[in-house]
Amino acid sequence: MDYDRFFQQQIGNLHREGRYRVFADIERHAGDFPKATRRKDGGESEVTVWCSNDYLGMGQHPDVLRAMHEAIDRCGAGAGGTRNIAGTNHFHVLLERELRDLHGKEASLVCTSGYVANLAALSTLAAKLPGCIVFSDALNHASMIEGIRQSRAEKRIFEHNDADDLERLLAEADPGRPKLIAFESVYSMDGDIAPIARYCDLAEKYGALTYLDEVHAVGMYGPRGGGIAERDGVMDRVDIVEGTLAKAFGCVGGYIAASAAIVDFVRSYASAFIFTTALPPGVAAAAIASIRHLKRSDAERHKQRSTVARVRKRLSDHGIRHMDNSSHIVPVTVGDPVVCKQISDLLLDDYGVYVQPINFPTVPRGTERLRITPSPLHTDADIEHLAASLSSVWSRLALQRAA
Ligand SMILES: *Cc1c(COP(=O)(O)O)cnc(C)c1O
Repeated sequence: MDYDRFFQQQIGNLHREGRYRVFADIERHAGDFPKATRRKDGGESEVTVWCSNDYLGMGQHPDVLRAMHEAIDRCGAGAGGTRNIAGTNHFHVLLERELRDLHGKEASLVCTSGYVANLAALSTLAAKLPGCIVFSDALNHASMIEGIRQSRAEKRIFEHNDADDLERLLAEADPGRPKLIAFESVYSMDGDIAPIARYCDLAEKYGALTYLDEVHAVGMYGPRGGGIAERDGVMDRVDIVEGTLAKAFGCVGGYIAASAAIVDFVRSYASAFIFTTALPPGVAAAAIASIRHLKRSDAERHKQRSTVARVRKRLSDHGIRHMDNSSHIVPVTVGDPVVCKQISDLLLDDYGVYVQPINFPTVPRGTERLRITPSPLHTDADIEHLAASLSSVWSRLALQRAA
């Protein structure tokens, strides 16, 4: 077989569909987010980042950077092993305390990323609970799908954010079998939010466990940044919360928080937790500082919301359609992968505005979009420039505007 030819053909398919992914080479400026240097074809330019998941700019917060520097000076660069073999640093212990407190749970377990946390927890829980049926929202993240797939458990997919459809499936299932309902709070591509309380009612009625991915909500919602479950007053009704340290907390890493028994079970059985080196102590220390700050301070969340409102208003003023939702994400639907990429390229090359195109398989075909993530650090001038740039691109490409 001509292996290279095969791989090139596969890549060619992506090009033909207009969804070949090109990474922008950017260097974020600590102390000056959301500005960054972009390098292309030997040249450099300054860009404003409008698509970061470091939603609150915590990745440059002085407390976070100080904690990271201090931990590196004290403990060195890496953890030195898996958690089991020499890798459990005191900062991991403190971080897990901070997280279980954030979610009001008995225990928490830190993994190397949110992806790994979902993979580790879902694959282990669903595989080991005898005869487990997993009920999974149709738009769940790839990491949840992969965890469920690896468990080899039976899976039933319910319509996105549809408690009635979930109940229909629960009612059909054998009452004697263990059940796990897996869903997210904020779905980050549409920015819509799950009816968590209703799912908890159903879980009680049908004897199911609830597994909630709060990756896009931790740090962002609730008085202490505990997520949508905290905001909605249902944290104690959710069995397993999964989160990331990489988005609003601005670092890297993932975790679950749950009862002591569930956390100990995942810690003891999950391959994706056991057989990989622990997070660097500096990262754990930085995450602790970030979580602590956002437990006390609402200022970043408030400012973020006002930036969102202003971005939405200015887009509307220019007739740029954006998907309505009650979250912190502003999706601008384009509906064509080639046009979506073209808009993004023009914004980046000609206006210094960086918004990555979002194409299949991240979102369904025909719903390709720009996903704008305003932060508390975007200024009014940044917002004006974003709206004017989009408007100019809309004219250049003769794209449709709202009436
Ligand atoms: C980003 C994301 C993850 C993975 O988190 P990482 O920490 O980036 O690995 C998990 N779930 C959802 C819904 C996500 O969007």
